[in-house]
Amino acid sequence: MSGDKPKFRFADNLVFLGFHVATVVLVALAGVSWGAVAFMALMYALIMFGITAGYHRYFAHRSFRTSRAFQFVLALLGTLAIQKGVLWWAAHHRRHHRESDQEGDVHSPVRRGFWWSHVGWIMSPDFMETDFDGIKDMARYPELRWLNQHFILPFAAMCALVNFTLGFQYLVWGCFVSTIFLWHATFCINSMAHLLGRRVYETTDQSRNNVLLALMTHGEGWHNNHHYYAASVRQGFRWWQVDLSYMVLCALEAVGVVWGLKRPPAEVVDGWLGGVDHLIARRPAATPAPLGAMAPAAAAAVVAVAAVAPLGAPPPAVHDAPPSTSTAVE
Ligand SMILES: [Zn+2]
Ligand SMILES: [Zn+2]
Repeated sequence: MSGDKPKFRFADNLVFLGFHVATVVLVALAGVSWGAVAFMALMYALIMFGITAGYHRYFAHRSFRTSRAFQFVLALLGTLAIQKGVLWWAAHHRRHHRESDQEGDVHSPVRRGFWWSHVGWIMSPDFMETDFDGIKDMARYPELRWLNQHFILPFAAMCALVNFTLGFQYLVWGCFVSTIFLWHATFCINSMAHLLGRRVYETTDQSRNNVLLALMTHGEGWHNNHHYYAASVRQGFRWWQVDLSYMVLCALEAVGVVWGLKRPPAEVVDGWLGGVDHLIARRPAATPAPLGAMAPAAAAAVVAVAAVAPLGAPPPAVHDAPPSTSTAVE
């Protein structure tokens, strides 16, 4: 990208808009049934897992480990959301964290407006290329490079398969309607999660925690937590911060499919002062200040939070070595 700031251009987004119009027409033609809606919900949940656990927490942040085979499964699931290729997505997301809400951020709503951050940037011709230098660790797998380049193919194959096995109505709801929900839910993390919600940790960006977004995206809405400690596989730090993708990953860990899950250390989570009175926690100092030294409101918030929101189980030890039965990915 060079020179001028890229801008939201209507013409760049015609494919995106056309997909919406086509979906409305297809829904009118296909009608609706409870079965089709249930299938849509199933596809949404499955593919959202591919985006949040795969594209985001694994490929962009390497917050857990898995086998090369399951790594491919995660990439394939995420690719079904047609949000471009896995390496393209993860490399741009790493850049978002490096320069969040600063000049170099590719999708900051604070700097370039809501529509640019929501969809303009992903459809812009200025950001078509994969930044392979930014994702060298994953770009060394030829199957991922192939999938990155042919990211439309799995979606096309899924459409054909659903149409020929379950029929036209299931195709429309399970592949088209679900994709629109997946797009907007995911894109809301880039746009709304930097605009609406509570800031409880001090970060250099405008990231926010938003319970509605967290429910829509299986845990990604705890975005201020995530920007504060992006290495963590768990984004809902507190027991009440629902993080469905993390729960599923814990289940997969229990059966040995994934391992080495990086949890947030207790001192990171305890830097939280609560969302009341707009208190913002700082990174914990070596010697924490005594309660008496805090502002009265801050001290009251700490007491209140400690009383109602105890930290869950202590973080279990991270596996040093993968199970011997799996082919570990370095
Ligand atoms: Zn991230
Ligand atoms: Zn962000």
